Parts: sequence; structure tokens; C-alpha cells
Amino acid sequence: MTLEDLGYPVELERYRKDKGLASFGVGRVISEHKERYLVRTADNEYDAEIIGNFRFSAKQRADFPAVGDWVAIAEYDENKALIHAVFPRKTIIERQTIGKQGEKQIIATNIDFAFIVQAVDRDFNINRMERYLTICNTSGVEPLIILNKTDLIPEHELTRLIATIQSRIKQVPVMAISNETLAGIDQLKTQMLKGKTYCLLGSSGVGKSTLLNNLSGRELMKTNSVSDSTHKGRHVTTHRELFVLTCGGILIDTPGMREVGVADAATGLEMTFKAIVRLARDCKFKDCAHTTEIGCAVVAAVENGEIDQSSYENYLKMEREREHFESTTAEKRMKDKEFGKRIKNFKKDRKSNKY
Ligand code: GDP
Ligand code: ZN
Repeated sequence: MTLEDLGYPVELERYRKDKGLASFGVGRVISEHKERYLVRTADNEYDAEIIGNFRFSAKQRADFPAVGDWVAIAEYDENKALIHAVFPRKTIIERQTIGKQGEKQIIATNIDFAFIVQAVDRDFNINRMERYLTICNTSGVEPLIILNKTDLIPEHELTRLIATIQSRIKQVPVMAISNETLAGIDQLKTQMLKGKTYCLLGSSGVGKSTLLNNLSGRELMKTNSVSDSTHKGRHVTTHRELFVLTCGGILIDTPGMREVGVADAATGLEMTFKAIVRLARDCKFKDCAHTTEIGCAVVAAVENGEIDQSSYENYLKMEREREHFESTTAEKRMKDKEFGKRIKNFKKDRKSNKY
């Protein structure tokens, strides 16, 4: 395997030299478990940890390596390495930390394309599709919509669904597949670009695991597992979350990715709802909420059918969530700052023997 097979972008080569990292090896993080990383290089796989210094210089959780990251490593034993640096990330998929409003957690990095997977049966929901789309737009990841389980509906129903999607979601390719009959799978494979990294987004049960298996076939095991004899089972982490497919594409599927929920789509609304946002900007009223105001450009567009009513309602709902998210983030920052100040004062006071 070459680094290019793993998706290594040429831009990083210059960065590596500029930052004096040329003497280190280069690898990609293919799984993470409790700060132990499995790092794949051109010809090896390492059980890696971060250097001690890393923990001190890291300002936040996001500075730590994540699945998909390119890292500078130094081997210190057979199949063991230390991570010295994380290279700049092209894209980041993150989500709100559960139970911690306003805090974010990195799920995976350096993803080029996301397959937004939805089943054509009960799961089908355009509002949810727009949310996943917003996650993509927030992260700078290019979206593609995949309609799965097409074996469950008649052809004309599928045609109708695709038309419904395209009337509301413009400029995002829609592909129809069935993991059951394998319709559309080969076509999907030929669409995947060599050396580009993909991920699967979608609710549980829509067929993501089955699709992953169909995209990789038996080759998955061959390409991604390393023979036991060379590694003697010394890996702490044996599961892999980044797969090089036979079609040349790379697929990231982490447990975290499965949890990227529709609630995380609170930012990046502008791209998803381009038409609405554009009209909102042209609205003649300052501070217009674009809901009931008579003469509002957005309300008028909804009334005359230029903008889809449900898309508009979905936008309003997500916009409110974004505002809420931003205010909690601002609150958290303020609290952190105050806490920092208190610590500083405490140290100062202690120096002057107040305690
Ligand atoms: P995930 O939770 O998104 O990973 O979904 P799974 O891949 O586990 O699939 C959920 C269920 O849907 C399983 O019972 C699959 O066999 C089934 N399934 C997946 N793809 C298809 C399909 O194209 N057609 C039909 N009829 N069932 C499918
Ligand atoms: Zn308005």
C-alpha cells in the first residue's frame, strides 16, 4: 500500500518539510481507543501513543489525534510508535458532547464525501436529510444522497421520491441502491474516487453496515487486517475504523459517526437553505423573523410556492436551535473565563499568603 492509497494529500508534504517533520514517518490514524491509536503507514501498522509533551501543549481535546488524521510518528519498537504531531485537517466531523451543552467532540477528520443514507420505507424523511446535509455543509464535506432498500417499493414510487428530494434539495446527487438485490451498488463503486475518503451518515437501521460490507466485499479483510504472525496479537486495538476499498475509495466508519445525530446540525444552515437565506437577506425589514411579517420577502416566497413550506419550517426550527447552541457556547466560554480568573486570583492570593 502507498500513502496515496490511504488518501495522503500532496499539500501535506510541503507542510511536513516546512515544520521540520521530514525525519518522522507519516501515517494515518485508523482507529482510536482510550488514547491508543492504530496508525497505518505505507508498509506497516503501529500501535501508537502520543508523546508526553503532547498532553501539555494540547490546549483542548480537539488537539488530540482522531480517526482520519495524518500524523508524524517515530517507531521505537517493532510495530510500536509515538505520535509527535497531528497534521492540519482538511475537514472535521464533530458533534455536541452528550450532557455537555456547547462542547464539541471530534468524530473523524479529513473526510471528502459523506453518503447520507436513507431507506425508502418508514425511515424516509426529507427534514432529516436536510439536517445531515447541514452537518456536511458545516464540516466542508461534500454530500451525496443514497436511497437504500429500493427493493421494497415499486419503481414509480422511487421516481416520485427522487423528484420530491430534488425539488427541495438542489445540486446534491441522489443515488438509489438496494443491498438486497445489489441494484446500483456497482454504479456507486464506480462513482467513488480513488484516494478520497468517505463516511456514512444516517439513522440506525437504514442499511449502513450492509452497504459497507457490499462496498468492500471479502476484500475488506484482505486489505485491512494484518496477518497475525507478524503482529503476534500485540495490538491493543484490533478493530479498524478506516477501510481501503477495492474501488480505491476509503471509508471511515466509527462508532461515533453512528451517533452523529440530527441534533448536531445546528450550524452551517446558510448553504443548506441557500434560497431562503438569500431572500432573508433581501428582506426589507431589519430584524425580521420572517414568520408573520406582512411584506416579508421570505413569507411571500413561501406563499407563492417559490419556497417549499416544509423546507421553510425545517429551516426556522434549525435556526432556533442554532441560536440556542450559540448562546450556550457563549455562556460556557464566559464561565471558563471566569473560572480561569478565579484560579489566577487564587494563586496570586496564595503567593501573598492570604491562604
Ligand atoms: P445500519 O444500522 O444503518 O448499519 O443498518 P444495517 O446495515 O444493520 O441494516 C438494518 C437492516 O436492514 C438489516 O436487517 C438489513 O438486512 C436490512 N437491509 C439493509 N439494506 C437493505 C436493503 O437494501 N433492502 C432490504 N429489504 N433490507 C435491507
Ligand atoms: Zn422577513
